[in-house]
This record gives sequence, C-alpha cells and structure tokens, in this order.
Amino acid sequence: PTLSPTIDRARLHALHERERQSFRDRNRESAALAREAGAHLLSGVPMPWMTRWPGDHPLFFTGAQGAHFRDADGHDFIDFCLGDTGAMTGHGLSVVADALSAQARRGITTMLPSGDAAWVAAELHRRFGMARWQFAMTATDANRFVLRLARQLTGRRKVLVFDYSYHGTVDESLVTVDAAGHVIPRPGNLGWAVPPAEIARVAQFNDLDSVEAQLRQGDVAAVLTEPALTNIGIVPPDEGFLAGLRALCTRYGAYLVIDETHTICLGPGGATREWGLEPDFFVIGKPIGGGMPAAAYAMTQPIADALDSFLRSDDVDVSGLGGTLTGNALALAAMRATLANALREEDFALTIPLAARWAQGVQATIDRHGLGWSVQQLGSRAEYWFCPPPRNGAQAAAAIDADLDAFMHLYALNRGILLTPFHNMALLSPFHTEADVDRHSEVFAAAVAEVLG
Ligand code: PMP
Repeated sequence: PTLSPTIDRARLHALHERERQSFRDRNRESAALAREAGAHLLSGVPMPWMTRWPGDHPLFFTGAQGAHFRDADGHDFIDFCLGDTGAMTGHGLSVVADALSAQARRGITTMLPSGDAAWVAAELHRRFGMARWQFAMTATDANRFVLRLARQLTGRRKVLVFDYSYHGTVDESLVTVDAAGHVIPRPGNLGWAVPPAEIARVAQFNDLDSVEAQLRQGDVAAVLTEPALTNIGIVPPDEGFLAGLRALCTRYGAYLVIDETHTICLGPGGATREWGLEPDFFVIGKPIGGGMPAAAYAMTQPIADALDSFLRSDDVDVSGLGGTLTGNALALAAMRATLANALREEDFALTIPLAARWAQGVQATIDRHGLGWSVQQLGSRAEYWFCPPPRNGAQAAAAIDADLDAFMHLYALNRGILLTPFHNMALLSPFHTEADVDRHSEVFAAAVAEVLG
C-alpha cells in the first residue's frame, strides 16, 4: 500500500498507544461488559466484525437519541456512524417507536400481508419510480433474491460486480481479481462454496472497457452496483459512466441492478431519481425501516410480467426467495412510519448542507498542512481519504492506511465522536447540529496536528 509519506510511523505508533491507554482509562464499564460477553459469545462479540472496532473491545451503548448516543461509562457521543446507515433517520424516532409498539400489540407475524404492504409499495414507487416491489429482511437478502431472479430470467449464471464493491454477504460480490485478472475470493471471504470465478465476473468502476470485456463473454445475468461506491470510500461515477453502463447492459442482455442501500443519502429517491437512472432491478435496505430490519427490491413492469406466472406457481414454496419472517407486520409498520415521516426533501435540506460543512471542516485542515489527502461528499454523507480521490475500488483498496485509519477512529472516539468503521466516513442526520459538525472539524484538526508533530 502507498502509505501517506508525510507521517512518521514511530510517532504515529506512540500516539496510538497513548490513545489505547486513554480508551482503557475511560471505559471501565464497557470493559467489564466485554469481559462478561467473553464468557459465551464467539470471540466475545455478537458478530465477528465487531472485534474490529477501535480500542480493546467495542463500547457498549445504553441509549441513542437523534444524533447522539451514550455508553455504559456515561459518555455522550456524536454519532456520525448512525449504524452504518441503518439509523440514517436519527435514533429513536418517536413515530417509529409508536408504530412498532402499536403493531407489536396487534400482532407481529402471521404470514399474511397487512394493509401497510400496499402503502409502502406505493410510497417506494413514488420515490424511486420502479413498477413492482417485494420485501426482504436485509439489503443482503434483497440482493440475493434479485440475483436469483436475474439468473432465472436469463438462464445465465454469472454476476458482474465492481472490484472492492460491497453488497452484503452476497457470495457473488465477495470477490476480487488477482494480478493476472482471475476472479478470486476477497481476503476474509470465509468458507466460500464454489470457486468465485464460476459465479462472478469483476470489472473496475469508471472503466466501461473493463465492463464490456466481461459482458462480451455472454454469460452475465446481472450487473450489480451502487450508483457511487460507498463501501471502499466514496467513489463517485465519472460523467457518463452510469449511462454507458446502462447501454452496455442492454446491448449484452444483462440486467442492471442498482443497490441504493447507501446512496439514498443523495435524496428521497436516491441516485435513481437524482441522476435519472434506469435500473432493471432495484435494491434498498438499512434506513427504510428506521432501524428495524426491513428491505425492499423492485423491478420494471416487463420483468414483473415475465416473472408473474412462475411466481404464481406451486414452485414458489422453495424458490429461494422470501423467508418466514420477511415482510412481517412489524417491519411493514416500521417502513410505513419511517417513509411517511423521514428521509424526505425537508430532511435532506438539513443533512446535505451539514455534510458539506463537515467536508469543508476536514478540507480546511488538509489545506492548512498542504497534505495530498482528499474529502468527498455524496449527499448527506462525506468521507476523507489519505490520498487523492480514488477512481475505482482497486485504487481505493490499495490506498488504505490501516494504522492511520485506526488511530483517527480511536482519537475521535476518545473525544466523543463515532465515525463509520472501517473507513473514515460520516453520515449526517436531521438531528446533527452545526456545533456537532464543528466539533468533528476541531478534533480532526487536533489529530492531524499531533500526527504531523
Ligand atoms: N448493499 C450495500 C450498498 C451496503 O452498503 C450494504 C451494507 N453495508 C448492504 C448491501 C448489506 O446490508 P445488510 O448488511 O443490512 O444486509
């Protein structure tokens, strides 16, 4: 990796050790809870990636409201992570809490639709324009279901993804390419079932030639992408890239699947509405249930027509789509309450300027020190990077500076700021204030000044 050359590594290491000690001194209650969790949880955490939070263990939270949360040691935090978008609306919306509580008392799951299903589908149609909708529990599930449908319709087996994209725990997307261009498992892809080259093709974002070289093979059922990459830093599409991608998908008979799970940060209708995209299939998860596990996927009317007779047949019982608890009444009530009261134009009118302010705050420090770093804003989201803006996932992955990342996260955490792991991203909610944003700018400036010495 190309590490930021301006950084004295010995100095960074010493500062990091100081911050680790400060974390231990500040977080004795969380440490006690972590010891308790260590008794019966695998690796001491509910999910393996939680071992990667900065510090010796994750902080245990006791309450979250709006843009803040409190931890077991009584510290107050400005939350720029917002559950990595799951809590993009802000924490603890009372309309959502009331809807959940009322529906929980009326019944959570019956395997029958509730009246909310039609309302939510109509609202999703109004926002994103897609004709026909279905529900899933998570964005991962929604992606998996869409890929099955694309395979069913095309009779093709492979999915094209962009290098170092992320779409959840979807086998076809946990891939990269080796130096010779062969598709291989992404580092850390555990227990893969088949060699990834059998199910996936990989292209580079912002490189239409690399897309065409793969689609030309004639075996790609779907191209799965975010409109801008957001999971390996923010990588915006070049002018014309998404239109070119649309045209290539049409020419080679592959479906274009747009995953808006994170890019809903661009506005109430995501990039699809803001940028006038024309996907064949569409996926959204995370924030649409106000934090409740709830996701949705959609398709155009011609695709729906082509699927209808199959989906009405007896075979749907084992179709690999849906699930017992998927689209249950509680999830639908959460989506209705969220979509009716949050993620609206008036919310983005608050959050997008806050993200711009956050980015300006970071940029001011970068400029003051003449660092070759960059900060990228995408709607209500912003991210800094210790190099010029990467143009694709491979460049971004190669530029990761794990030590500097870890230090910046821990430094911020010890001063009451939570960033999105595992890169340097902030998401703004309507509950953040300019003072919250300015506090980040101040802490970022202090961290950089210390690192530079
Ligand atoms: N799609 C995108 C674009 C994502 O960023 C993520 C999660 N980071 C997912 C899908 C998967 O979401 P989940 O983990 O909720 O299934």
